[in-house]
Amino acid sequence: MSAVFDAVIIGAGPAGMAAAITLADHDARVLVLDEQAGPGGQIYRGVEEMSLTMPELFAALGPDYAHGDELAARFRNCGAEYRARAMVWQVIPGEEAHEVWVSQGGRSSRVLARSVLVATGAMERPVPVPGWTLPGAMTAGAIQVLLKSAGVVAEDLVIAGAGPLVYLLAAQCLAAGARPMAVLDTTPRGNLTAALPLLPGALRGKGPGYLAKGIGLKLALRREGVPVFSFVTDIALKGTSEVTDIAFKSRGRPLWLSAGVVALHEGVIPAQQMTRALGCAHEWDDVQRCFRPRTDGFGNSSVEGVLVAGDGGGIGGARAAEHEGRIAAAEMLRRAGKLDDAARDRLAAPERRGLAQHLAIRPFLDRLYAPPAWVRAPADEVMICRCEEVTAGAIRAAASAGAQGPNQAKSFLRTGMGACQGRMCGPVVSEIMAAAHGISVEQAGYYRIRPPLKPITVGELAEAELD
Ligand SMILES: Cc1cc2nc3c(=O)[nH]c(=O)nc-3n(C[C@H](O)[C@H](O)[C@H](O)COP(=O)(O)OP(=O)(O)OC[C@H]3O[C@@H](n4cnc5c(N)ncnc54)[C@H](O)[C@@H]3O)c2cc1C
Repeated sequence: MSAVFDAVIIGAGPAGMAAAITLADHDARVLVLDEQAGPGGQIYRGVEEMSLTMPELFAALGPDYAHGDELAARFRNCGAEYRARAMVWQVIPGEEAHEVWVSQGGRSSRVLARSVLVATGAMERPVPVPGWTLPGAMTAGAIQVLLKSAGVVAEDLVIAGAGPLVYLLAAQCLAAGARPMAVLDTTPRGNLTAALPLLPGALRGKGPGYLAKGIGLKLALRREGVPVFSFVTDIALKGTSEVTDIAFKSRGRPLWLSAGVVALHEGVIPAQQMTRALGCAHEWDDVQRCFRPRTDGFGNSSVEGVLVAGDGGGIGGARAAEHEGRIAAAEMLRRAGKLDDAARDRLAAPERRGLAQHLAIRPFLDRLYAPPAWVRAPADEVMICRCEEVTAGAIRAAASAGAQGPNQAKSFLRTGMGACQGRMCGPVVSEIMAAAHGISVEQAGYYRIRPPLKPITVGELAEAELD
């Protein structure tokens, strides 16, 4: 049997990198696995490369992005073992050690860990509107990937949705020299009034800094003359073989714009595939309308020795993710016998204070950007499971025919059985089943997730190395 790592960390975003640095500082044997080419996660994607090869764009993305470069440098030098382009496709909990199965360069192998930290971050909420499967319809995150990894920005881009990332992306495009044609803000009017009482709380901790940044982004768009349409509903992407136009209503008035690329975004939700596959208990967040793994104050999930930190445990943002990573690291050091309970608590205490500062604004943001009802109730003809080509109407018909929840919908219709393993359709299928049966989404539940979490070939599986 190969040596057992004190900790294996899945994900080299802010949470994973911060955890690794803390663990390595205390002489723990730690391995970090990430499927990307370099450290950084979603927010700091491609940060090392960009700072070297595209210094002007790097500077234009501002100090928040530059912070990622410093963090990545500290991570590189911390002494943790790091494997890039290493995709984890299964974790099997064990009594003495957990097995982590990872695919790298077309070969799969197993590593063993006393503690596993799931730091796999968030994903964008699916936005199933008519035409969202046409080429040219993308997510805001996908546009960012092109920007951060290749410095490429579409010229005929319309950004439609709600949440901080909508305005951030628009400003990042401007910084890269490409002016978005328009921003369609889908924040419902009712969200503004519901969020207002939470504003005083958002003025605590680091809240004012975040608010100032958001206002600054909006002012930059105004200065550059980017049209912003408010209270947008009824979005439909038009085109035969690709997106050519977008139809929508703003303040109830029907409008139409030409656009070759549309970025859809309705906030981010925890990426739950891995924690689901591990059998971790999850709970439903009714404001953010997403499931998240249940964790204690140290990131321990309901599965012994499996911890969660960062956006994968609940959306808090990149700086909060760092603090959560360091808190989870303190607990993993205790589990590895390197700290006693009191030393763990001392190490975690300043991180808890930092975390609270960054989370102060969350109740306000969560309420302001709670997804509009229409995102959860797509029209019958809209495709929901893109892999198996199943419409919302077919899912509703399956519910009428007796399917009680997402797993029965899967048996009836093969929803969630394609290459994405239900990542894209899962959240919407749960919402549709809940609405169809008049029950809560928590009662409707979510897909049971099976390995492999992401596709690998049968040949690779057959040749997987045990040690
Ligand atoms: C598409 C997208 C874009 C975003 N852009 C911004 C932004 O510009 N600014 C901002 O403030 N916030 C942004 N956010 C929110 C931001 O990602 C988080 O607040 C922050 O990055 C959370 O850090 P994290 O460490 O929890 O996860 P992440 O930074 O998401 O890191 C998770 C890491 O896990 C890896 N991973 C996932 N699954 C596996 C697997 N099976 N095997 C191996 N590795 C795996 C990923 O490759 C990734 O590197 C974005 C979120 C998303 C989903």
